[in-house]
Amino acid sequence: MVLPVMEHFYTLQGEGFHQGKAAYFIRLGGCDVGCTWCDVKESWDAGKHPLLKIEDLILNIEKTPAEIVVITGGEPLMHDLDVLTKQLQSAGLKTHIETSGAYPLSGQWDWICLSPKKFKAPLPEILPHANELKVVIFNKSDFDWAKKYAALVSSCCKLYLQPEWDKASQMTPLIIDYIKAHPKWELSLQIHKYINIP
Ligand code: SF4
Repeated sequence: MVLPVMEHFYTLQGEGFHQGKAAYFIRLGGCDVGCTWCDVKESWDAGKHPLLKIEDLILNIEKTPAEIVVITGGEPLMHDLDVLTKQLQSAGLKTHIETSGAYPLSGQWDWICLSPKKFKAPLPEILPHANELKVVIFNKSDFDWAKKYAALVSSCCKLYLQPEWDKASQMTPLIIDYIKAHPKWELSLQIHKYINIP
């Protein structure tokens, strides 16, 4: 089986609950969610990215000591991820996904990071499965969006607010105030961008 892969690399997870942990990232091509502030627009057209065999991806991962594999995009759930995740787990790897939830959930996951987007709302079916809810704050109305989805995920789901990178200087102070007023939320920063790693 093959999947369109924009890039794959071993780095540190920069965001959310697993921030700071070593992880192998696989960025799949394809996304039609259309976030205006998207920082990986080159991922949107799946046809522009090479089709790689799952076996070859795993051979590359096994050249590293990675224990966690993060499947991201693009919107990775545009693809059926059952075979990929089964093979990753069979190889002893933890499977994590970063998704908007806008497409049906496939795959076997050790960690699901749901990052719902206003541009194409998530399907309800993923909400009880999210281990982590990560809402990107681009403007003030995004706090209401965050509150709406916090009420829909499970009670054990971790809650993160993350400033959109280009608006960070304006939004981070608002996020800090919001978290102080609503302490069930935590701050997620894109630390990989601060330390200049992929
Ligand atoms: S869901 Fe992700 S990849 Fe797709 S447009 Fe939004 S930020 Fe970009």
